Amino acid sequence: MNFWTRLAQWLNPPDPGPVEFKPEWAEILTANIPVYSRLPTNFQTQLHEKLTHFVAQKHFEACGDLELTDEMVLTVAGQACLLVLNHPGPPFPKLRSVLIYPSAYKATHTTVDALGIVHQQEVVRLGESSSNGTVVLAWDSVLQGAGNCFDGHNVTMHEFAHQLDQARGRADGIPFLQNPNRYARWAEMVETGHDRLERMSAAGKRTVLDKYGATNHAEYFAVATEAFFEKPRQLVRKQPELYAELKTFYQTDPAQWFTQG
Ligand SMILES: [Zn+2]
Repeated sequence: MNFWTRLAQWLNPPDPGPVEFKPEWAEILTANIPVYSRLPTNFQTQLHEKLTHFVAQKHFEACGDLELTDEMVLTVAGQACLLVLNHPGPPFPKLRSVLIYPSAYKATHTTVDALGIVHQQEVVRLGESSSNGTVVLAWDSVLQGAGNCFDGHNVTMHEFAHQLDQARGRADGIPFLQNPNRYARWAEMVETGHDRLERMSAAGKRTVLDKYGATNHAEYFAVATEAFFEKPRQLVRKQPELYAELKTFYQTDPAQWFTQG
């Protein structure tokens, strides 16, 4: 095997094929992700299908003194796959590893200033996503985010929204869109939405979107994703255009899940 073949395999590792969906997985999903029970049956089946690929393809690792369990894998993977329920192909093709810490962890944040000087700072995080194919999460925050599916805070969905964004490279709030004609409209939506949130936040006004979305365009998309899945009825009422764009992107309509039962 020559260098180029090995490099191609490293960049595009062969798909190991799906694993079997075990009946006990449904019990974990039911217990830890309340929204799972609200999904229409055909969506549950699609979620199971995505999960069988996700679990087979991604490397999970517990960090600190945490021991990896099926519950951790399924609670993370189940929420991540909700984002790509109706997307064609394997879930998150660029993602390789998911690292799980017991709780908030310390990470080094590197920035380069205008003079080209590198600054490093220790920060405490609940999660992060990088374009090199890694998502890091704090397990207690994952559980908390999954358990309350109405508060608009979900660290797993937040970081996996970044992962979708980063599929095109650096996170900028613009993920791959199925219809290439929509990029200009999407970019405008993110810019105006972010600017509005920034203004509202500066004025001390609360909106359906968490003010953390005012940080930059990437955070705006991640925060909007959390609201789309966890406060869909509020979002569709308050910001119908944003809801409609996200509905087209995610190819699903969470507002329907919350009207059942
Ligand atoms: Zn973020």
